[in-house]
Amino acid sequence: MFEKILIANRGEIALRVLRACRELGIKTVAVHSEADTEAKYVKLADESVCIGPAPSLQSYLNVPAIISAAEVTDAEAIHPGYGFLSENADFAERIEQSGFVFIGPRPDTIRLMGDKVSAKDAMKTAGVPCVPGSDGALPEAPKEIIRIARSIGYPVIIKASGGGGGRGMRVVHTEAALLNAVTTTRAEAQAAFGNPVVYMEKYLENPRHIEIQVMADQHGNAVYLGERDCSMQRRHQKVIEEAPAPGIDRKLIDTIGKRCTDACRKIGYRGAGTFEFLYENGEFYFIEMNTRVQVEHPVTEFITGIDIVQAQIRVAAGEKLWFRQRDVVLRGHAVECRINAEDPFKFTPSPGKISNWHTPGGPGVRVDSHVYTGYTVPSHYDSMIGKLITYGDTREQAITRMNIALSEMAVAGIKTNIPLHQELMLDSHFLKGGTSIHYLEQRLAQVGVIKA
Ligand code: ADP
Repeated sequence: MFEKILIANRGEIALRVLRACRELGIKTVAVHSEADTEAKYVKLADESVCIGPAPSLQSYLNVPAIISAAEVTDAEAIHPGYGFLSENADFAERIEQSGFVFIGPRPDTIRLMGDKVSAKDAMKTAGVPCVPGSDGALPEAPKEIIRIARSIGYPVIIKASGGGGGRGMRVVHTEAALLNAVTTTRAEAQAAFGNPVVYMEKYLENPRHIEIQVMADQHGNAVYLGERDCSMQRRHQKVIEEAPAPGIDRKLIDTIGKRCTDACRKIGYRGAGTFEFLYENGEFYFIEMNTRVQVEHPVTEFITGIDIVQAQIRVAAGEKLWFRQRDVVLRGHAVECRINAEDPFKFTPSPGKISNWHTPGGPGVRVDSHVYTGYTVPSHYDSMIGKLITYGDTREQAITRMNIALSEMAVAGIKTNIPLHQELMLDSHFLKGGTSIHYLEQRLAQVGVIKA
């Protein structure tokens, strides 16, 4: 096992990784920007290194600064968390070339999955069902593009191969709008991701977002840890996640899960990963793979009893997975609410000093957050300041506990989206389960109309 790990991230995930290290008896190095000097995990870490000023480009995305921090502190491995450099194949490569272990998949796997056209290709070959669409990148010839769209059937969606974070996508409803949409998406993709390659998919009108968590070691073992439903989204950003996904046939999930682990073995995947699918009319369609730990991993930890971050560290150190597929038993239900520092209905960010921070507790309640009374939420980063996760024997119990937990939570000094979560926990469609990825935005639009 490693003796010392450097955590190349900030916020709640830095604290989450730190806790996993402490449990495993591993020393920690926190790297931080000038804006995060006062963070809780920086104080709790065995060592800390300031890697630059507040803007991410000069700190959390500053590869040479992070590698020198690992060198001066003599860390053996680097955990990238999520976001920032976690899915940057060049970063993973630089780490390995400098003699450290990257806690994640091999750089070439990250590269393969980071390009959506090659990822989809690899998954199709491995037998994972994909959204019907163009066979790889769209060609230049307008006639060909029109032919492909006709064969898929409208509406279609044009997506950037290098895209991410919900950007670089355009829905097309009619042939008249097609060629323009392709040209615009190509230009945007070039500007935003430095890669003009686009591809085309059937646009699914009312899907759910269902994802499969996998874990693989370096000895050819891969298991899936059930699924998560992350359909409650705003602007392609997840707001609430839960596990298991309500109302989906277990046998179907097991079939898809097995396809995912087969694919992992085929591409020599290692570490934690997530296969994201759209689910509509009883069918699963692969959209992309995330080659890192996800924000929503705690709901899976609750229902499987497996510590995903510890598993990441242990397999990176070369250990064999200590559980097999048959040992993975799903029990109960878990729900996660992402707590953001923002106006709950206008969604404008609300950074600043937290004058009171009181968190809930009790059976089946977990709070993952790095903030505390007196902490100042910096304006430079993502607005998520924590996650509230509840567990119950049933979905109803998990939701009831979430309701109580939200009502106990007290945050003063900044605005948070807790009032929105409180409304959603009472929403009849959410309570029924199985809402589509468009539900939250449609609901928000409607509430807007009513309020006006
Ligand atoms: P990103 O990497 O930017 O998150 P994804 O491919 O994961 O891109 O897609 C993000 C979101 O866009 C999905 O969760 C879904 O809401 C929507 N989306 C993507 N592809 C389709 C599709 N073929 N049909 C309908 N919605 C889609």
